[in-house]
Amino acid sequence: MSVTVSHSPFTATVLGLPRIGPNRELKRATESYWAGRVDAAQLHHVARDLRLAQLADLRDAGLDSVPVGTFSYYDQMLDTAVLFGALPPRVAGIADPLDRYFAAARGTDTVAPLEMTKWFDTNYHYLVPELDAATEFGLHPEKLLAELAEAIELGVPARPVVIGPLTFLKLAKSAGGAALHRLPELLPLYLDLLAQLANAGAQWVQIDEPVLVTDLTEAEIDRVRDTYTALSAAQDRPAILVASYFGHTDAALAALADTAIEGVALDFTAGTDVAAVAAVPALSRKLLVAGVVDGRNIWRTDLDTALGTLGSLLGSAGSVAVSSSCSLLHVPYSLTPETGLDERLRSWLAFGAEKVAEIRVLATALTDGTDAAAAELTAARAAAESRRDDPRLHNPRVRARLAELDDTSLTRLPADQRRAMQREHLDLPVLPTTTIGSYPQTSAIRLARAALRKGEIDEAEYVRRMRAEIADVIALQEKLGLDVLVHGEPERNDMVQYFAELLDGFAATENGWVQSYGTRCVRPPILFGDVSRPEPMTLSWIGYAQSLTTKPVKGMLTGPVTILAWSFVRDDQPLGDSARQVALAIRDETVDLEAQGTRVIQVDEPALRELLPLRAAEQPAYLRWSVDSFRLATAGVADTTQVHTHLCYSEFGEVISAIAGLDADVTSIEAARSHMEVLDDLNAAGFALGVGPGVYDIHSPRVPSVAEITTALSAALKAVPAERLWVNPDCGLKTRGPVEVEASLRNLVTAAAALR
Ligand code: GLN
Ligand code: ZN
Repeated sequence: MSVTVSHSPFTATVLGLPRIGPNRELKRATESYWAGRVDAAQLHHVARDLRLAQLADLRDAGLDSVPVGTFSYYDQMLDTAVLFGALPPRVAGIADPLDRYFAAARGTDTVAPLEMTKWFDTNYHYLVPELDAATEFGLHPEKLLAELAEAIELGVPARPVVIGPLTFLKLAKSAGGAALHRLPELLPLYLDLLAQLANAGAQWVQIDEPVLVTDLTEAEIDRVRDTYTALSAAQDRPAILVASYFGHTDAALAALADTAIEGVALDFTAGTDVAAVAAVPALSRKLLVAGVVDGRNIWRTDLDTALGTLGSLLGSAGSVAVSSSCSLLHVPYSLTPETGLDERLRSWLAFGAEKVAEIRVLATALTDGTDAAAAELTAARAAAESRRDDPRLHNPRVRARLAELDDTSLTRLPADQRRAMQREHLDLPVLPTTTIGSYPQTSAIRLARAALRKGEIDEAEYVRRMRAEIADVIALQEKLGLDVLVHGEPERNDMVQYFAELLDGFAATENGWVQSYGTRCVRPPILFGDVSRPEPMTLSWIGYAQSLTTKPVKGMLTGPVTILAWSFVRDDQPLGDSARQVALAIRDETVDLEAQGTRVIQVDEPALRELLPLRAAEQPAYLRWSVDSFRLATAGVADTTQVHTHLCYSEFGEVISAIAGLDADVTSIEAARSHMEVLDDLNAAGFALGVGPGVYDIHSPRVPSVAEITTALSAALKAVPAERLWVNPDCGLKTRGPVEVEASLRNLVTAAAALR
């Protein structure tokens, strides 16, 4: 092997960068482009300015290797599909490359977009490349080469980043089953790309292989070895860094280290430890990029612990660089705008910019000794101490209440007995109809929220307007003849943020945006302390709605797992402990709702599957605590009170038996797109509770016909007896228009009535 471009090891880096812009500039520019308000040149200009400013910041912050090419107009997997000429044929006719790209991402009037799914166990969503026999790969490296050139011109020590062939193929959807057999077609293109990057002046290339942290078969591990043996045998290439993140690499690490690659990046915040590195002697000849600064959470790093880890690694690796554990895509840009946080809490946090500074400090301390970073180490210790001692992290009342609970707090009477009691209590027809919770978020609702925020209206006026919305939604449901009504959730713009703002133990940021997908950004709350409910959160809204009708109105709550999944969580106690605290607060709300006369309570857990650990060995423990936290949240009510839950995905896989474990009286689930197959899966798992498989897909503006809904219900009745079957759409209606919602629900009620 000969590497024609000289390279030397580096000491401080991050694995990837956010791209939405510190003030979501890219989001605004992209959406303006879609709306036709700016042209492609203007969009490219905004993007380039953002990249150059970011590169200059990182260079000035003292990183001696800077990732380039992690910028994206939408998504890095989509970029990889473009890089290898693997866009689906249905967009091929769109001549303009940018419009073709966005068509693949979002669809057009005539073209369906690529599917979108979660990036490993994060809240980022990527576009799933589609491969079939007709896919002919080809190399299109223009974007990456241009970003490399602009970084080099700026004097930045640039390290181009590409997604690796194993990850690209394993995550792609392939018509003929697994796509890994297509490695031989892709490898020559990777080799060509490596040569072009070397010629363009790259000393290092980073090849991302996060699939290395998932369970791989022996045969797949052989592919890892073969692939990187082949790539590292190239004559003309940069030094190769293979990056893994979000977990530990297990047996794949030794296979990788057997090859002639020059470096590996490992995630020391998610399972990798010093012993795993020491166990692989071949690493003593490689650069180890040690992800000791958590790239996914917002806590300040314990620098002493990180230094301990780094010091130990020095003995096992050829050289050690300090890094974030993964791309900084998953955390907000900077703490600077967060002037609203109390000083104490703020001192415990590190967003993107602060993490880069920590990495620099650690690298300095590692090479020059701790004296060289004495001030920063002292400050980090003081912050850690202040966090440890803060009374908000140790609420004795919450802890005492949890300690008192036992298994009886998680159980209700057997489900069939409850069903009989509830039938009497609620007096519902067979095939009862209901909806999932939200109704269209009209512009009146959005305007009222904005006016309240700006101080143009007071709280009383806001409440008046929200009540008017609730009254409309109740009247609509009465008119349509639905059986179990909802209040429509006008007061919530987000089902997690709403509760986080009302619970103690959570803090909200002003500008802590992270990309969820494309131009969609979220601002996750920060769960920093012990959680409790200072006062009721939903009672007045639900009580008002119930006062307008004699039909039962569902109390609507978000479950503990979903609240955790969409927040930045504490790292000083197990996630399961935080879940129990949130569950207790939700339980308090259910008990109060019941006391106020609410007869049906729904606790949504759309994220139950999202938090499922990547490794099969870790899944049973997760499923135990997540199911228990749901039961803790819901088992405090009388057996006559009907508990519903809503789950938002149709491929249940590993969580199917957990759904029965939730013991909710009624589970509404997405099924419209999976044609009711989910019911057979539930039956096979022994599920015998009420179930409302979504009878139409709310993700599309189409109004389903009565015949279509009848067909779906008839299919459902083959799998589920009528006394357990509910009739509902497959998710909340907040993104739909009022006209189509009314028409769709009218058909739904008509179909249910005819079948009865
Ligand atoms: N109750 C919520 C709604 O209807 C559920 C949303 C969800 O499933 N993500 O909007
Ligand atoms: Zn849903």
